[in-house]
Amino acid sequence: MEELPDWAPRNIDLTTPSAARVYDYFLGGAHNFAPDREMARRILDLHPSAEANAQANRAFLHRAVRYLLDQGVRQFVDLGSGIPTVGNVHEVAHREDPQAKVVYVDIDPIAVAHSELILHGVHNATVINADLRRPKEVLARPELAELIDFSEPVGFLMVAVLHFVPESDHPDQIIAELGSVAAPGSHLVISHGYDARLEAAGPDQLSRRLAGAGQKVLGEYRTADPIVLRTRSRLEELFTGWPMVEPGLVWVPEWHPDWPDEVGVDPSSSYVVAGMGRKE
Ligand code: SAM
Repeated sequence: MEELPDWAPRNIDLTTPSAARVYDYFLGGAHNFAPDREMARRILDLHPSAEANAQANRAFLHRAVRYLLDQGVRQFVDLGSGIPTVGNVHEVAHREDPQAKVVYVDIDPIAVAHSELILHGVHNATVINADLRRPKEVLARPELAELIDFSEPVGFLMVAVLHFVPESDHPDQIIAELGSVAAPGSHLVISHGYDARLEAAGPDQLSRRLAGAGQKVLGEYRTADPIVLRTRSRLEELFTGWPMVEPGLVWVPEWHPDWPDEVGVDPSSSYVVAGMGRKE
C-alpha cells in the first residue's frame, strides 16, 4: 500500500479508484494512487483517446472561463472542480481580474485537500467539500456568502461532472436550484461524457443501452462514481431556463476554439460535449 502524502487526509479510501484522481492522472497530475492509475490504464486500453479527451475538456474549461470574463462575469462557482492542476479557474480569472471570485466545490476529500494547499494565501478563491446533488446545502455554505454576491451574474461551472449524477438525483432540479438564486446574465456551463455510437443505436435500444453504458465504458472496473451517459436531447433539456449561447451543444474541441481551424482533439474521437446557457 502506498504511503499517504502529508497533505492528504488520513481517512481516505485508497483501494477504490476515484474519478478525480483518475482524471488527474489523465491530465499528467501527481495526485493519484495505484488503483487510480490501474483504472486509468484500463480505460486507456478501451479508449485510447481518453487522455486527449480529458485534456480537451480541460482546455474547454479555460476557454469557457475566458468567454465568461469577456461577458463581464466576475464570479465563478466551480461544481465538481477536481484536483487542481495548472490553469485552474482562479488562475485564468485572476489573470484578467485579480478581484474575480472563485468558489471550488468537490465531494472528493483529496481534491479538496489539494485545493486547500494551492489556495493557501490566495485571495478571492476558496474550496468547500460538498455534494452538488444537494444544491441548497451548497448555496447555504457561509464560504459562498463570503465571496459570491448573488445580485450579480455568476458562472456556474459543471464541467465533466454531471455524468456522475444519475437521473435519480434529479439533475434538472439541481440546475433549477442554481437558477433560482442566479441574477440575469448568470451562465451555466456544462460538459458531459457523450457517445454518439450509443445514440445511433436508435431510440428503442438507447434507453436500455444507456443504463449499462457507464459499466460498458469502464468494463468490470468502476470508480466510486459510476458514469451516466445522456442523449443529446436530454442534455439540451438540462439547459431549461438557460438559453444556450452559440454554437449550442457541440464536441468540446469545437466550442469556441482559440483558432477556428485548430480544434485540438479530432472531433470524431471526442467523448465529451459541451454547452453554455445564459440566464435572461
Ligand atoms: N471540473 C473539473 C474539470 O473538468 O477539469 C474536474 C472534472 S473531474 C472529471 C469530476 C470531479 O467531480 C471529480 O473531482 C469528482 O470528485 C467531482 N464530483 C463527482 N460527483 C460530485 C458531486 N456529487 N458533488 C461534487 N463533486 C463531485
